[in-house]
Amino acid sequence: MIKNITKKKLLINGQWVEAKEHTSLISPFNGEIIGEIPVASLEEVELAIQAADQARETMAKMPAHQRSAILEKLVTSLTERAEEAANIIATEAAKPIEAARIEVARTIQTYKFAAEEARKISGETVPLDAAPGGEGRIAFTVREPVGVIGAITPFNFPMNLVAHKIGPAIATGNTVVLKPASQTPLSALFIGELLLEAGLPNGALNIITGSGSVVGEKITNDQRINMITFTGSPAVGIGIRNKAGLKRVTLELGSNSAVIIDEGVNIEKIIKRCVNGAFSFQGQVCISLQRVYVHENLYDSFVEKFVDETKKLKLGDPLNSSTDVSALISPKETERVLDWIKEAQLGGAEALTGGITEGSVLQPTVLVNVKPKNKISCQEAFGPIVVIDKFGSIDQAVEMVNDSRFGLQAGIYTENIHTALNVAEKLHVGGVLINDIPTFRVDNMPYGGVKESGMGREGIKYAVEEMTEPKLIIINRN
Ligand code: NAP
Repeated sequence: MIKNITKKKLLINGQWVEAKEHTSLISPFNGEIIGEIPVASLEEVELAIQAADQARETMAKMPAHQRSAILEKLVTSLTERAEEAANIIATEAAKPIEAARIEVARTIQTYKFAAEEARKISGETVPLDAAPGGEGRIAFTVREPVGVIGAITPFNFPMNLVAHKIGPAIATGNTVVLKPASQTPLSALFIGELLLEAGLPNGALNIITGSGSVVGEKITNDQRINMITFTGSPAVGIGIRNKAGLKRVTLELGSNSAVIIDEGVNIEKIIKRCVNGAFSFQGQVCISLQRVYVHENLYDSFVEKFVDETKKLKLGDPLNSSTDVSALISPKETERVLDWIKEAQLGGAEALTGGITEGSVLQPTVLVNVKPKNKISCQEAFGPIVVIDKFGSIDQAVEMVNDSRFGLQAGIYTENIHTALNVAEKLHVGGVLINDIPTFRVDNMPYGGVKESGMGREGIKYAVEEMTEPKLIIINRN
């Protein structure tokens, strides 16, 4: 359980500041109050932006070894308090505790990568004499921090996705105004505490809780914010991009990720992994396995085994170590997903298991005979749902995967290397997984999408590039 349910404060300029207004944070699983969270006003957001703006110079001038040391200290303290961190995530997000522990372990990795990357940031020499008139000049680039970064994060990986923003931001000497998702502010505030203890200068990280429409809008529109790094839904992300003007913007958005299962694949070997990819954290993962396209020769046996394995999942309290699937983030989300299932069923789809709730938990649901235009297939389900369909030829399967507004990651299981490479070439996504589900991510790989899945890449090294400007310096020796 979370210790000391207290009234939380905003982090502004290195101080915990009492907000004028608060709201109760409710457990998605049992409806209990788990915290009192500040609802920041525009004036409070203004103070946070001012603080971040004033801290720019301190952070930009801080030597790389110091930036790295702060991140290393965070790694040490988070490792010591890992179980507490996992409990916070499990409680505020209803993430099954085992998955929450994995998220904390990944968060530690992410900050480790950031601490390492802080020491490696460098430019390059530019051979100006390659152009007539460039003789006698030495040129090189240095990478400078962009300045103030507005970071807006979603509920589903509330600790690790914050790490993917503030880790590289500190590594590169930027300052940050962070707005965590309203349902999951506790894990962000916890990291704020640890970073203050680690010696992060005042104003380098400000954490402002409150509504997306107030805090998020102000961050998006303020001229002193030089870059927005956003992870969340396509609708909000596209809105931010449209308003951000000349700010640099990276968007990590949603998907309806798919896998292709080719003829000749040993399905026994992959069933557990596919089930896990579809239902971990109730399918509330941006690369959750939502669509499975199986070769017609394997389809019946794949579906049978997939349903059997799905039925073994344990539903219940996220704080219970044996729980695989718990409640969705809100009752409203459960209603939405149930509506989408109903729409598919009216069109002829069949739920082979699930499709109903058990207390506050929506049962893992396997749907077949879904029409491609049903929302549950063509939009992001973000729930414990998987749609299984069959194909006759690999080209047809690729077409089905690409028939999507999204393009984050996709997978193909095949024994044929030519098929694997041809499909990798044809899939219109940010990442292709050969002989794996799309639901794979480690925290140093370039990660991001095409189409409505976003723009820009995370994965510390890649975020470092996004968060710095190359400045060219030329010495004239003539
Ligand atoms: P969301 O509703 O878009 O919210 C994301 C963040 O944006 C929250 O902090 C939210 O604040 C804020 N926000 C809402 N309205 C805003 C506005 N007008 N201006 C600025 N900020 C605003 O997304 P979510 O439901 O938390 O997360 C699920 C989505 O994230 C899914 O689509 C998922 O695929 C995507 N996601 C993508 C990745 C990736 O790396 N590609 C990773 C994880 C999740 P409030 O909470 O206060 O509304």
